[in-house]
Amino acid sequence: MTSRAALFHGPGRPFEVAEVELEEPGERQVLVRVAAVGLCGTDLHMVRGEWRRPTPMVLGHEGAGVVEAVGLGVELLAPGDRVVISWAPSCGHCADCRRGRPAACIELQRAIGGGTLLDGTTRISRDGETVYRGTATGALTELLTVDESVALPLGEDVPLEQAALLGCAALTGVGAVLFQARPEPGASVLVIGAGGVGQFVVQGARIAGAGEIVVADPLDSRRDQARKLGATRDCPPEGLKETLAAVAPDGLDYAFDAVGAPETSALALRWTRNGGTTVLVGLPAAGARLDLDPADFSRREKWLTGSMYGSEDPAVALPVLLEHVRSGALELEPMLGPRYALDDVNAAFEASLAGAPGRVLVLPNG
Ligand SMILES: [Zn+2]
Ligand SMILES: [Zn+2]
Repeated sequence: MTSRAALFHGPGRPFEVAEVELEEPGERQVLVRVAAVGLCGTDLHMVRGEWRRPTPMVLGHEGAGVVEAVGLGVELLAPGDRVVISWAPSCGHCADCRRGRPAACIELQRAIGGGTLLDGTTRISRDGETVYRGTATGALTELLTVDESVALPLGEDVPLEQAALLGCAALTGVGAVLFQARPEPGASVLVIGAGGVGQFVVQGARIAGAGEIVVADPLDSRRDQARKLGATRDCPPEGLKETLAAVAPDGLDYAFDAVGAPETSALALRWTRNGGTTVLVGLPAAGARLDLDPADFSRREKWLTGSMYGSEDPAVALPVLLEHVRSGALELEPMLGPRYALDDVNAAFEASLAGAPGRVLVLPNG
C-alpha cells in the first residue's frame, strides 16, 4: 500500500512530498484517510531545530479523517467512521496510564523521542528505508495507520477541518483549564500567549465560568481574536503592569503560560497572586531552564504546576469537549486559519512560523 506524505529532512531543509510504502493495518490498528491536519507548536519545534529526532520523518499529529480499513481485532470502529486522531495511546500497564495520563507514559515518550509508534515500529518506509513518525503519529499523509485506541469516534455533525483541532490544541488548551486548574466560577485568569493553544485556554476559562480573563500577546490580531472568544482584557506582555493595575494589581487567581519559554513562564508566575496557581502549558525548547525565587512558594504560597495534553485521557476528554462544541460553548470555526494542499506543505509551515492568526491546516487529500 502506498501514500503520499510530507517528509521532514531536518531544520532549514524543505519538506519533500513523496510516495511512501505503508504496511496494512495490523492487529487493533486502523487505516485512516486524513482529511485535515493542524500544524502545532510541537511541529514548529522540529522545524526550528529546537528538538532532535530521526529523519526522514512525517510530522503532524493533530488530525481528523475517515476510517478506510480496519485490522484484526478492531471492535469499535468500521470503515466510514469519522475520527479524531489523538497522539497518546495508553500502554495500559504503566503507572501514568493507570492514573489516566497516557500522554505522560514513559513508553510513549520513548516512542516519540525515537520517532516510532508505541511498539517501536513505524510501519512506513521509502525504498526500504525507515520513515519515522512525528509525535508517534505522522499525520501529514493521505493515509495513516494508527492504533485503534487513538482514532477517537467523532460522530457525524462536526466538520473534519474543525475536528482536527480537537486532536491537540483544543484538548491541550481547554483541558489545562477544565481538567488541571479547575478554576472556581468567577476566578480571574491570565493567559500568556494567544496562539492556537492560548486561544483554547481562553475558551476553557470562559466555559469554566471565570470572571476576568486577561490575555497577553505581542500580536494585535491574536489579541483581537482572544477578545472575541471570551477574553475581557488584553495587552502586549510588557503592558501587563498597566493593564492589571485597575483590576488585579496583586496578580490573578490562575495564570497560564501557553508559550513555554522561560520568560513567559516567569511572567505567568510573576502575575499569579499569592496563593494562586501558575499552569505551564506550552512545551519548552530542549534545554530550557526556569529561574525560580523560592519565596514565591514559601512566603507567597503560590502553586506551580503544568498540564500535558489536557491532563486527562483523550478518550475521556474528547466526549466532554464534543459536548461543549455541540452546545456552542466551544468554538472551533473561528480558530481555523489558512488551508493548504499537501503539495504546499512548505508554504503552510512558513505561514505557521510567521504567526498566522488561526490554526494553519494542511488538507492531505485536497
Ligand atoms: Zn500538538
Ligand atoms: Zn503507559
